[in-house]
Amino acid sequence: MTYATAVSGIYGDVLHECVSCGGEKIKFWRQKNFQYTESVNTTAFSIYRCESCGTGFLNRPPARQWLQSIYQYSGQALTEAITLEAVLAQETAFPNCRLDADRMSHQAHQLNSSDNDQALDIGSGFGFYTQALRKLGYNTVSINPGKYENDVFKSLNGDEPLAVMFENYEPAGQFGVVMMSQVLEHLLEPDHAIGKVSGLLAPGGVLACAVPNYDSFLVKLLGTKDNACLWIPEHVNYFTEQGLTALVEKNGFRVVKVKQITRIPFNAVSKRLRLKGRPAGVVDGMVKFLQIPFAGLMHCFGLGIYINLYAVKN
Ligand SMILES: [Zn+2]
Repeated sequence: MTYATAVSGIYGDVLHECVSCGGEKIKFWRQKNFQYTESVNTTAFSIYRCESCGTGFLNRPPARQWLQSIYQYSGQALTEAITLEAVLAQETAFPNCRLDADRMSHQAHQLNSSDNDQALDIGSGFGFYTQALRKLGYNTVSINPGKYENDVFKSLNGDEPLAVMFENYEPAGQFGVVMMSQVLEHLLEPDHAIGKVSGLLAPGGVLACAVPNYDSFLVKLLGTKDNACLWIPEHVNYFTEQGLTALVEKNGFRVVKVKQITRIPFNAVSKRLRLKGRPAGVVDGMVKFLQIPFAGLMHCFGLGIYINLYAVKN
């Protein structure tokens, strides 16, 4: 394949309205380059921003086929297979996915007034959300396209997710809980996806979603150098609380709870300062301790790194 054909396959159609609220006042914000493999030259994407709800999105977005070819192995930048043991070791060193899975599953379960004990885990990743939902008594359906993640899922839960993208999933029956953790930012046409989720939930059922916050202090400080939210081209949408709320409310939901999450790896600072041994241990301990008041302050101003939103189907 020549570079020219590779590039023509990278972009999708131009967008004329906001992917969250449907507003037509959208404006170019910044450009961000990326280099997916060493063999492909650096390619630029333009980020647009909605003047009504503040949501950002790639415009033109990546082409659907090209994006799917990335996700067939992993939605989280894995370039090779990983074992469950390695994932659990990471979780022990820096508790992250497991904490989020337990918290969000409990919260969704508490808010679910539908009497329906079927749960759908969209973008099931390593399988921690499915595991948490099963512990709460739910029968689960998990879908996830990434092979590397699905192998870990199987080691953790014993079965395998359906290896499809959500847009190709053909459901049978309704659900009481739908979990979408770190998914919406990856989807072209998030409005279609939420419309489909709305049709799958029983009245009183709960949609729980987690997305990176486009209003986070990291984006404000780092601009397009931020990769938590502005991770291109895997993340195609950048949500604000206002935008995410507009997106679910126009699809038959009522937002009942929003929470921000900020978690900094304990060793982020010592690594940056190249510390080792005892000095590294002291700095790691300080980061662990100080991030609690720091996160609280950021959340007061709506600047946290992630948004968790819970919405009930009308
Ligand atoms: Zn908007």
